[in-house]
This record gives sequence, structure tokens and C-alpha cells, in this order.
Amino acid sequence: MHRIPLPLPNDGLHAVNVYAIATSEGLVLIDSGWALAEARDLLESALGGIGFGFEDITRFLITHSHRDHYTLAVEVRRLFGTRIAVGIGEQANFEAIIEGQVEAQFADMISWGAVELAEKLRPVFAKTDHDAVKRVYELPDEWIPGAQDIVIGDRVLRAIPTPGHTRGHLVFADPEAGLLFSGDHVLPHITPSIGFEPARAELPLGDYLDSLRLVRAMPDMRMMPAHGPVSDSVHTRVDELLVHHDVRLAATLEAVRDGAVTAWDAAHKLSWTSRGRRFDELDTFNRTLAVGETAAHLDVLVVRGELKSSTVDGVVEYLPLEQ
Ligand SMILES: [Zn+2]
Repeated sequence: MHRIPLPLPNDGLHAVNVYAIATSEGLVLIDSGWALAEARDLLESALGGIGFGFEDITRFLITHSHRDHYTLAVEVRRLFGTRIAVGIGEQANFEAIIEGQVEAQFADMISWGAVELAEKLRPVFAKTDHDAVKRVYELPDEWIPGAQDIVIGDRVLRAIPTPGHTRGHLVFADPEAGLLFSGDHVLPHITPSIGFEPARAELPLGDYLDSLRLVRAMPDMRMMPAHGPVSDSVHTRVDELLVHHDVRLAATLEAVRDGAVTAWDAAHKLSWTSRGRRFDELDTFNRTLAVGETAAHLDVLVVRGELKSSTVDGVVEYLPLEQ
């Protein structure tokens, strides 16, 4: 099993890890990297270093639809006919991407009270070369329908749905070897974004916390994340992520008690990144992530009965219970 970090363009993350598993029936890759010439060349030479070429890849198992995980697989398939498998839960995201559906995303921004961001992003979305997007988001060959064992040569990988980061995210466990390919579900240094996807789930953070508990209930394994270094224990990192979200939920509840009405308001009262930056210091992309993240926390507080909400002209307003 080989970890191959591949480059990303203009992204907060430095690299995406592709894992190559050599079996008696050829090579299986978990995630593919971003469709960039530089990444493709690096992947080719890394595979060459272990005695393989693109033609030896029998299958890509993809954790989720984000382009740093999926799009290079489509390029390789175009040349070699390689099969690509993705969790069925991502189907709605693929359809939204391929059909260029963006209105749901703007409706989300409006519901968060983020009109300012919607206005900033509308021209950016309008300029996107939709044909280019469609070329790298051709559908996979296979939808993995749920938790299931995948036999690859002499190994068995278990695909496990872990919705939250995206609605159809999968992790792949190799229980025999004690490895968990955790995709973006459990990452070593950062907390994964929640529900940053074109067809956002109803309650992405609720799904995410359930998926963390699901992985915590499995035997502990070595963590093979999609970004950052390998580490000894998935459980240790899951515990830290659960604490992080407890702290964020408490701070988000406090923001509403302190007068925030919308997700936009609450995001301004919270601090951001590990450096504790103000919301206004973030760029447009990161403000969009931040306000979506805040909405996800507010919605969990409503489901838990700690806040009330109502929708006024498409904008969701949150209120403390005592009012
Ligand atoms: Zn991702």
C-alpha cells in the first residue's frame, strides 16, 4: 500500500493523498487527485516507482465528489477505460454539477442571511466554463449502494457511508490490515468542511456527528487520511473532532443568546480558523464556508431543542427558547 501526495492549485490544503493498493488482480486507487497536468505526471511517475503504469489500475474507489478526489480519475478513464466507483449518496451532487444547477446554492446563501455573498458569487458562477466542468464530472461507472465488502485480489475493503463532509462520503476500511482510508471524514490537522456541496443535505452537521460516532464505534485503526500524514489512531482524532463541535455548538448557541438572528449574524460573532480570525478577515470563498458551517451548527441546535427557528422571506431566523 502506497501513499502518493498530489498537488492542488490555489487551495488552503497543500496536497491530496492518493492510496495505491497493489493486489494479485492489479492496482486499486483510493481517490485520484485533481485533474491537473502536474498531478497526472506525478501520479504516473509515483506508480512507475512501484512498478506500475496507469494501464495497471483496475479500479478507482472514490471517497466523495470533491474535485481534488474525483477528477483525475475521469482523465485516466478516458485513456485507459479504468472503472470508477463512488457512493450512491453522491448522485445528487453529480447531477447538480453536470446540469449546472446553482440556484439551490444561492437559495441556501439567502436562507443564511448571506445576500452579500450571493451577490458576489453570482457573476463568478456565471463565468464558470460549464463544459469544462462537465468534462471532469462525467458519471462514475458504478454507484456503491451502501455499506458493502469489496474484494480486491486477496484483500477485502469495506465501504462505509459516512455522510456529513458531503452527503455521500464513503470511508474504506481494511480491517485485516487495521487501516481506515478516511477520505475527508477524519483529517489530522483540520476540521473538515460540512455540507460544502451543490446538493446540500437537510442536516449536514447532524449527519457528520452521527458518522463520527459510527467510526468511533468500530475497532480503532490506523488513519489514512486524504490530506496530511498517516497516524496511529482514528479514535483519537474522532474524539478531538467531537469535542471541537461541542465547543462550536456552545459558542453558536451563545451567539444567538447574544442577539444574532441569522447564520450570517452568528458567523460574525464567532472566531474562525485555528488562528482565531474575525469573519470579516476571511476571503469570499472562506466566508461562504464559514456561514454554511454556522448554519449547520444552528440547525443541529434547533433539532436538539436548544433553539427555535422560523423562515421569513426565505431567510431562516433563530431565537433562544426563553423568548
Ligand atoms: Zn472534500
